[in-house]
Amino acid sequence: MALASSDLILRKMEESQERFDPTHIRPSAISSCARKQVYAALGYPANEEAMRELEGIAFLGNLLDRSLADFWSRMYPGKTYRQFELRTPYGIVAHPDIWVPGLNLDVEVKSVSVGAKYYGLPKPEHVDQLQLRLHFHHKYRKKEGVRGEIIYFFRETFLDPESWAPLSFTVEYDAEKGQELETRLNYIIECVERKELPEREGTNPDYFPCKSKTKYLQAECPYRDACWEGHTEEPATLVQEAEEILQRYAELDGMRKRFQQNADAVKGELQELQEQLNAIFDREQTERIAAGGYSMKRSYTPPRKVEYEAKGYYRYYLKKEEK
Ligand code: SF4
Repeated sequence: MALASSDLILRKMEESQERFDPTHIRPSAISSCARKQVYAALGYPANEEAMRELEGIAFLGNLLDRSLADFWSRMYPGKTYRQFELRTPYGIVAHPDIWVPGLNLDVEVKSVSVGAKYYGLPKPEHVDQLQLRLHFHHKYRKKEGVRGEIIYFFRETFLDPESWAPLSFTVEYDAEKGQELETRLNYIIECVERKELPEREGTNPDYFPCKSKTKYLQAECPYRDACWEGHTEEPATLVQEAEEILQRYAELDGMRKRFQQNADAVKGELQELQEQLNAIFDREQTERIAAGGYSMKRSYTPPRKVEYEAKGYYRYYLKKEEK
């Protein structure tokens, strides 16, 4: 049987995973939890399922940066690099998604969900990732005036849904910030060399960055179980003045859940009617029917999965305390 595109993509994803060595310290993750990087570099066993959750997102980014690099190289033939090797004298290598020497331009390509706009773009961790590379260009390649750019593609819409234009941000080199990030990188390297785990940067096993949950995606750090083994939560701080707020919050949250349950019930009945309608559409071999002053058209959208990237923001977990 001929190879399907979906199989080909899966095969390429698996190949790229085989090339990925989790024990390499990754400057691209400079702002993610340092302890997580050290776990990976020291080869601690990871939760494989949690690892796979983000593979698709990473691969999509790869496809996008390949296309964008192609556009740039057509404008500057032979002078555009994908995954250029930006080496430090101590063996750490950073990889700009796209490096356009003719423009002194280092491009970071990101695919995010539309929801990410709600929390603000560019994401600070993406700026840090690029800032560290600008620092390497400046310090180790003696390149002056390298311009950094982060381009965001939105997984649901491709373009910015507010302006229907691509969304990119310029990042200027900041020597002080660059050095601060390199110092953090050196700290991670030292921890790996000493085989010493840094302090946790997550504050609770159920919250980001250790665990996050959105409408479409449940993600957790692949080292969460090992990291929080034996942890027991400290008792909550009693703050009398928060009483009214928490009670009102509980009331509204209860209302929201009840509305949601009603909406789910209506949705269930609508789905039953849709199945009855499908039988009619199929039998009549049409995609448009009319009756009783209404017309109905159906169109098929193939199944797809929309995923959200998690970032640092507050979530509120309300729990009824025992008396
Ligand atoms: S579980 Fe949380 S604190 Fe522990 S390594 Fe992962 S992200 Fe860091």
